[in-house]
Amino acid sequence: MKPKIAVHKFTSCDGCQLAFLNLGEQLLEVFDLADIVHFAEAGAVDPETPVDVAFVEGSISTPREVARIQRVRANSKYLVAIGACATSGGLQALRNGAHSVDWLAQVYASPQHIETLAETTAIAKHVKVDLELWGCPVSGRQILATLRALLFGVVPINDADKVCMECKRNNTVCVLVTQGVPCMGPVTRTGCGALCPSFGRDCYACYGPAENANSDSLARRFAGLGLMPADIARRFRFINSAAPSFSDEWRKASESGRK
Ligand code: SF4
Ligand code: SF4
Repeated sequence: MKPKIAVHKFTSCDGCQLAFLNLGEQLLEVFDLADIVHFAEAGAVDPETPVDVAFVEGSISTPREVARIQRVRANSKYLVAIGACATSGGLQALRNGAHSVDWLAQVYASPQHIETLAETTAIAKHVKVDLELWGCPVSGRQILATLRALLFGVVPINDADKVCMECKRNNTVCVLVTQGVPCMGPVTRTGCGALCPSFGRDCYACYGPAENANSDSLARRFAGLGLMPADIARRFRFINSAAPSFSDEWRKASESGRK
């Protein structure tokens, strides 16, 4: 019998599920290796069946999602969080710290019908996660490599190196050094293949903090380029604003701007 896999969606834009679907011909390889029992975007709907590997896209934003992620965890041998929403809370986490009750009252005529948590959080804040694949969106290459490793009983590679390393390997000219643009690559985890620098633009940190990210030092470098504290805060307060190393940095920059 083939192993079973499921792809679950929580609060998200579906972009990481599309990265899965965009595997194209390689998706056929997945069908050879495993049975996909739940993947609503692709047609299969059976969310409660126990599976070997569950991929989870999206952040936890509502009380119902808290209960549902517990069931997904109970039904899965391995749980892999995919994408910035699932690993750090994603763009939705920008609302954390704001007064959500006031916001709801301003946006909706009947806010009492909206069920939402005060904060949007990563999957790992609620259940044990076996592996996190960062990125907005994740790449199909990461998903396939992880799935193959888990199905063949190998520990998947958790590549937490910095985007800069990828630039060096690709012989990409550094935009920070040569153009003085505030590139986030020195603190961002690789996985995209240093896509933005390869087109001559700065990395905007969609893959989240790298291992041993020295955000303090990069913020000082940005100040040296002439960025004001509010601009530095914005560089860190974006797709992965709730990731620890980035949230510390934008808070510090915001506070120094108020002094
Ligand atoms: S990580 Fe990005 S692409 Fe993936 S679901 Fe969230 S917003 Fe969409
Ligand atoms: S372009 Fe950005 S990611 Fe690439 S080496 Fe320079 S600072 Fe690092």
